[in-house]
Amino acid sequence: MIEFAQGLPFNPISQHYKQLFGQKVYKIPVAVVESCPNREGLRGMQTCLFCDVWGSAARSEAFDLSLQDQITKYKAHIQNKFKAEMFLVYFQAYTNTFTKMQSLRNNFDLALAQDGVRGFVVGTRPDCISEGVLNLWNEYHQKAFVGVEIGVQSFFNEHLLFMKRGHTRDVSLKALKQISNKTAVDLGIHLMFGWPGETREHMRETAKICNDLPITNIKLHNVHVLKNTGLEKLYHDSQFQPLEIDAYADLMQEFLEHLNPRFFVHRLAAYASRWDELVAPDWTKNKMGSHQYLIDHLNKNQSQQGLRF
Ligand code: SF4
Repeated sequence: MIEFAQGLPFNPISQHYKQLFGQKVYKIPVAVVESCPNREGLRGMQTCLFCDVWGSAARSEAFDLSLQDQITKYKAHIQNKFKAEMFLVYFQAYTNTFTKMQSLRNNFDLALAQDGVRGFVVGTRPDCISEGVLNLWNEYHQKAFVGVEIGVQSFFNEHLLFMKRGHTRDVSLKALKQISNKTAVDLGIHLMFGWPGETREHMRETAKICNDLPITNIKLHNVHVLKNTGLEKLYHDSQFQPLEIDAYADLMQEFLEHLNPRFFVHRLAAYASRWDELVAPDWTKNKMGSHQYLIDHLNKNQSQQGLRF
């Protein structure tokens, strides 16, 4: 068995940052752009089925604040709570390359001017990567940490189609290759598990694809239903049922066991930060309990990341 940090059955992202920065680093999630190609209906695209009006932001109140105020407010909060000293500003909500180049530059400059901020992480879609964006990331990489998280969500076109994602698996693979070839940013992907018809075979295939990718980290989400989303309508029409925790744990275990242990994993599932907007499943509300349950599930089965890699 591999010994991961903190005795965990997976390779935690905190270890990645610790190796890079020598101490624990905290992310400050911010919301600066207000839309994405899907919401704008570009090329006939539609809003992703799972996405609520806040574009997957952690905190809806952030939209009423300037970037400076968001950073100041949230940084103070985590400084008090965790005695945090080092930070990465996380451009999280919507598609953070779907805006003007000058605006990206201004936001990056402002983020890096803050005390204790060592870099930033940008969340975006695989079909929103231009040469200009790649050059900009490279430029900032010369002076700070630059992380990029690509919302791949699935490597199966039938699932991407179901969630109205608006891009295919090949678009994701091409974007990841392009970013890796042309930049030195720290690259990660987001995956969602729990789509209709998803099986252990899909998990094994997903891990196999990941193992060949030029990335360092992976963030896992269980598909959950938020208010005012396309998924909510399907849920109420009995056309979609999110996985209960045991079923999700089985899929997650299958994926992790086949995943190269070199990848850092952000978390084992999504835990709703805006409880009032969660429709189902209920276990997504219970962050600490569910996280521990998933860890216990792996330990009970003597399972861990990379066991069958
Ligand atoms: S998930 Fe991202 S790309 Fe999809 S609708 Fe929401 S903000 Fe847009």
